Amino acid sequence: MQLAVFSAKPYDKKFLTSIRLTELDEASDIEIVYHEFALSLETVSLAKGASAICVFVNDDLGAEVLESLHANGVRAILLRCAGYNNVDLQAAQRLSLFVANVPSYSPEAVAEFAVAQIQTLNRNTHRAYNRVREGNFNLQGLLGRTLHGKAVGIIGTGRIGVAFARIMNGFGCRLLAFDLYQNDDFKKYGTYTDLDTLLSESDIVSLHCPLTDTTRHIINDETLSKMKMGAMLVNTSRGGLIKTKAVIAALKSKHLGGLALDVYDGEGPLFYNDHSGHIIDDDELMRLTTFHNVLVCGHQAFFTEEALSEIADGTIRNLADFLHGRKCENGLVQDHGKEGLSLVRKDSVPIRI
Ligand code: NAD
Repeated sequence: MQLAVFSAKPYDKKFLTSIRLTELDEASDIEIVYHEFALSLETVSLAKGASAICVFVNDDLGAEVLESLHANGVRAILLRCAGYNNVDLQAAQRLSLFVANVPSYSPEAVAEFAVAQIQTLNRNTHRAYNRVREGNFNLQGLLGRTLHGKAVGIIGTGRIGVAFARIMNGFGCRLLAFDLYQNDDFKKYGTYTDLDTLLSESDIVSLHCPLTDTTRHIINDETLSKMKMGAMLVNTSRGGLIKTKAVIAALKSKHLGGLALDVYDGEGPLFYNDHSGHIIDDDELMRLTTFHNVLVCGHQAFFTEEALSEIADGTIRNLADFLHGRKCENGLVQDHGKEGLSLVRKDSVPIRI
């Protein structure tokens, strides 16, 4: 069987290949084909010949692409990431496609990156780095705030939100959280509150909920106006959680004191590729990069050796489950044999179909 990997980078090849050799070769005859480009309506025909495909966060798995995949003989979709907002699960179910993700690879990797962004933005180490290289040791403009004792609001206390809470608790921060479901693991570090209270009391707000119909633009003009004057907003979850125009207005009015983004609403055509020789046609992103108190990274919070190894391992285990017709613990849509196809809810996030 053939597995077609889309949006494949050298590091994907390295980690997927090393797992494949140790875990799967003996049992199955699998050929892996790597495509550097993303999966889209334009590229979907390249999946022909593959029974399974492996995709990442910005690959398009909308209904039309899924239909085309199915027509080309693809039967399994392996997400090498946790988020699955880019997959039309309802269409996948209708087409009897197996879909699985890797929900729990190193949540600490993402949480630690959120903290790295907070520390960078708060203490201006990115600016200090550039200044010192130019022989400028002036501290003017580098003033930060001590994190100890500050209130940190966490929206979404799943695996990553709790890992983040654990670290911020170590800094001596007061932790508040908002979630649709309460997690006892979070209660060791802080208290649950409603969203408005979290927004009005937090010095730092960090987003760790998935992108769903209800969380899209959860940060908008109204919610930003409820935030504490000068507070910092951090998003390492999904770009669509934030309405970009609204944060630009809040930064201009100085109501928002700082913004750290690892993800961006319009990241699809840009992130993971070098556009340094091109004109970037996204005025909102370009406006964001002009603020001294905005830090934008290119969706790299997951990017540690440990996480890549766990992602590759989980992806190949999902593939093995599909090939052997086993129930897959990471299955989002999977065939249950006689029971027919069903959606599996594998975490506390309801999957609406
Ligand atoms: P998780 O499923 O363990 O936790 C998500 C939490 O969000 C759950 O507790 C859920 O109840 C809560 N939630 C759902 N809807 C909500 C709502 N409307 N309001 C408040 N809370 C809500 O997921 P996780 O592993 O912690 O990952 C969180 C997100 O992080 C993923 O969905 C993904 O988008 C993102 N992520 C980003 C990167 C990166 O590299 N930047 C890497 C991995 C994951």
